[in-house]
Amino acid sequence: MELWQQMVRDSIHTVDQLVDKFSIDRSVAEKLIEFFQVRINPYYLSLIKYPGDPIWMQCVPDIKELQDLDADEDPLYEDAMSPVPNITHRYPDRALFLVTSQCGLYCRFCTRKRKVGNSEKISMRGLESAFKYLEAHTEIRDVILSGGDPLMLTDVMLEKILKRLRSIPHIEIIRLGTKMPCVLPQRITPKLCDMLKKYHPVYVNTHFNHPWEITPESTKACEMLANNGVPVGNQMVLMKNINDDPAVVKELMQKLLKIRVRPYYIYMADETKGANHFRTSIQKGIEVIEHLRGWTSGLAVPHFVIDAPGGGGKIPILPNYVMEFDEEKIVLRNYKKNVYLYKNVEEEKELSTEIMKFDSAKRKHLSKSTKGNGKAATRRVSTPLRISVPDLEEIGI
Ligand code: SF4
Repeated sequence: MELWQQMVRDSIHTVDQLVDKFSIDRSVAEKLIEFFQVRINPYYLSLIKYPGDPIWMQCVPDIKELQDLDADEDPLYEDAMSPVPNITHRYPDRALFLVTSQCGLYCRFCTRKRKVGNSEKISMRGLESAFKYLEAHTEIRDVILSGGDPLMLTDVMLEKILKRLRSIPHIEIIRLGTKMPCVLPQRITPKLCDMLKKYHPVYVNTHFNHPWEITPESTKACEMLANNGVPVGNQMVLMKNINDDPAVVKELMQKLLKIRVRPYYIYMADETKGANHFRTSIQKGIEVIEHLRGWTSGLAVPHFVIDAPGGGGKIPILPNYVMEFDEEKIVLRNYKKNVYLYKNVEEEKELSTEIMKFDSAKRKHLSKSTKGNGKAATRRVSTPLRISVPDLEEIGI
């Protein structure tokens, strides 16, 4: 058994442990575990500094999880957009492939509590229909392995999946959505990296939410992935009393770049059953992103998005930098709230597009009355169109 597997085995997961370790009332602990499984591995547990701190809140169950049970289990309509078991196909050219229900830690804010936590929730028997779907849908060029956490699979099982995906010619890139570099970095081993690099291009999207999660262990894991040609991006969820502070987020983004992880998304927390107590206001999210843009490297500024309820997908949210915009100009304010004017130009179109709009009579007339000069093939839409015969010949008309 590898070290990471032993650490999963040694995780806190029982009612007795919740009562002893975190002083949770027994009857509450029973209900919490029944609602959503607990798994706190020894590594992540060691990051807790005091009760109720940002690490504690992400992994120790709270009675608040039981207080919004009327909320939606699947606000993103992942199941409604699932044509076959284990696949969610929401966007035109990419698909989510759920390959396990297991995780190295069960995050209390998880948006997939309905699917994650025990082996019956995602059946491995369904993988064949998922592969067949991916094979048949030639428009899918990007597959994101998720779950659960795909790095809970053994290297052997994961390699079988990667090998099969690589046998599908239209799949260009494979992404792993995994929290392991953050919550159980011991999972990133030289053996795993040697295997992954046989199936490039492979990308990793990971999930750090707080600067305390950047440790010597997680640094080593992320650097090992980068050294083996796996670009790593980070998806942070904005959460009340965890990271809803612009200074905390800026520190996290800058530290991620230092360990060669590119900040990719900041999400507003989803409206998920059992996780609504983590939600913050949208204004707080805008404040957070406004304190990044301009104030630190552009590389440290991720997209700020709301994953739209009802399956609308990720929609970007920006602070309002546009004060006025018309045909003549745009008036903008910068990150320091200084105001600038940028003059507009008229739209230009390719000559070939203009010619397509010409009727044949006009074209005939032009060929008789114009003389060639062979000049460049773009001009303003609104200026009178003068086209030389050599121009027309050059583009085969
Ligand atoms: S690792 Fe991902 S899928 Fe697993 S509990 Fe955490 S958020 Fe949910």
